[in-house]
Amino acid sequence: MKLSRIAFTLSTAILATATALAQGKGSLRIAAIDVEGGQATLFVAPGGQSLLVDTGWPAHDGRDADRIVAAAKQMGLSRIDTVLLTHYHSDHAGGVPQLVARIPVVTFLDHGERFRPDPNSPVDYDEYLKIIATGKYKRVIVKAGDRLPILGFDAIALSAAGKVMNTSLPGAGKPNALCAKAPTPTEDMQENGQSLGILLRFAGLKIVDAGDLTSDRERLLVCPANKIGRVDLMIVSHHGSDWSSSKVFVHSLQPRLAVMDNGDHKGGSTSVIDTLKSSPGLEALYQLHLAPPAGTKNPGGTPQEGPEHNASDEFLANTAGTDGKRIDVTVNVDGSTDIRNERTGATKHFAKR
Ligand SMILES: [Zn+2]
Repeated sequence: MKLSRIAFTLSTAILATATALAQGKGSLRIAAIDVEGGQATLFVAPGGQSLLVDTGWPAHDGRDADRIVAAAKQMGLSRIDTVLLTHYHSDHAGGVPQLVARIPVVTFLDHGERFRPDPNSPVDYDEYLKIIATGKYKRVIVKAGDRLPILGFDAIALSAAGKVMNTSLPGAGKPNALCAKAPTPTEDMQENGQSLGILLRFAGLKIVDAGDLTSDRERLLVCPANKIGRVDLMIVSHHGSDWSSSKVFVHSLQPRLAVMDNGDHKGGSTSVIDTLKSSPGLEALYQLHLAPPAGTKNPGGTPQEGPEHNASDEFLANTAGTDGKRIDVTVNVDGSTDIRNERTGATKHFAKR
């Protein structure tokens, strides 16, 4: 090869690398999209494959689907390969019809049949089934312990349809001393406890997103043995509601980083925020919104206290109103993590543990 040819090849390689870095290639990218107290978390694998966990709310003139599509386009996607519905409550599955009207979707994953009709979420499962009945999409039902049948991601179902995985993850499964003092919650009899919760592995890191899985099932995952072990990033369950994110679950998993998809009037319980802040090894908690104000009634009955029970300002994506600002997480191939607050524009770097 001539010298000029080598130089050309080298400069092309450098350019390609620079472009790849700019596009986040080689990294796992995660967008915690603000759907005002629901869930829509978009994961994009290094090869460009995409996994959307939940679709936000219905109605609102397609607000949540619009926000998802905007995030997808910014991340270079023209379609969403897989939509995973954790469960069939409105704030997770309600946005399906609006989403498929705006962007191509290939496959849906879910936990199977609805557990029971829910007066707070009467039509969302039926609307989803109508979308599947068009025959345009593949539907795959996932069981607890299954590896997710999707390209580009190393992910396992921690929970589904009220059950949790039987086995422990590699390196986990030790008896858990925290269980002795932990209360045994009553069994959840709604869709929340049916959540299809997942754990992703990338660059030696573990990322957990358990949907709205309730404390009774959380306990089964970490007691009497901790089947998961420590994790690096936690998408905080149930928007930070006090029905989930029990102390025994959070303090057994010891996340280094946590992102809470609360709304300004939903989730963000004082008790959960305090549990996260006191968790050993936590480096940062990000919230999509300021927690609801003192005096707000939390569903689990714990008192909502003052504004000091929040992450500090730089970790809040939305401090007032409904701007829909995101938290964007990039997990690099070396296991380090960069988290960007769209409101402030600031990115923080976190070294691998
Ligand atoms: Zn929810």
